[in-house]
Amino acid sequence: MSGTPLLLHACCGPCSLEPLRLLREEGFEPTICWTNPNIQPVAEHQLRLDTLLLWAHEVAGVPVIVAGDDRDAWERSVAPLGFDRQRRCRACYGLRLAEACRVARTQGFEYISTTLVVSPYQLFDTCHEVLEKLAPANNLKVVWRDFRAWYPQATTRSRELGMYRQNYCGCRFSAAEATIERHEARDARKAAKAARDSV
Ligand code: SF4
Repeated sequence: MSGTPLLLHACCGPCSLEPLRLLREEGFEPTICWTNPNIQPVAEHQLRLDTLLLWAHEVAGVPVIVAGDDRDAWERSVAPLGFDRQRRCRACYGLRLAEACRVARTQGFEYISTTLVVSPYQLFDTCHEVLEKLAPANNLKVVWRDFRAWYPQATTRSRELGMYRQNYCGCRFSAAEATIERHEARDARKAAKAARDSV
């Protein structure tokens, strides 16, 4: 290992591409940590994990620690927040990043980051606050970067690599929200077309 060791919490394969590349360019040598009990249903959870592992081992050459996925804890502490997205996602980040911090501490890492920093669909500032609160209690330093500008590149590269790409964040609430947003966007396009055609 040549760079500075860093534990990189990863939410999925496609979102790992650019953070891994950019952190390596900065001189870090990330080890990926998977802990995502938020992903539903179970088959989807397995598909995302398999996609990550295949890319990590066959393409990226990055080690992966598969940590705890406490689905019961997610149901207890996150699911009751339902469609209150701010509070739900804060609790979800808290659960996943707490486990990532625990792994980092027990494995002797000094630095921690997360691939959640690349997706424009995540609550960037909320996620940052959560990680900054958890890290010091585990003797960790947060490496926080705004990688959202590289999201289009992550999309392109993951397509080129033939990776599975999901169209919702992970939980059942996000699946419902994404479906509603797609329907709303489709209705808006139809309305705009009808307005143009009537001129
Ligand atoms: S939308 Fe994503 S981050 Fe928010 S609760 Fe659902 S799975 Fe977790």
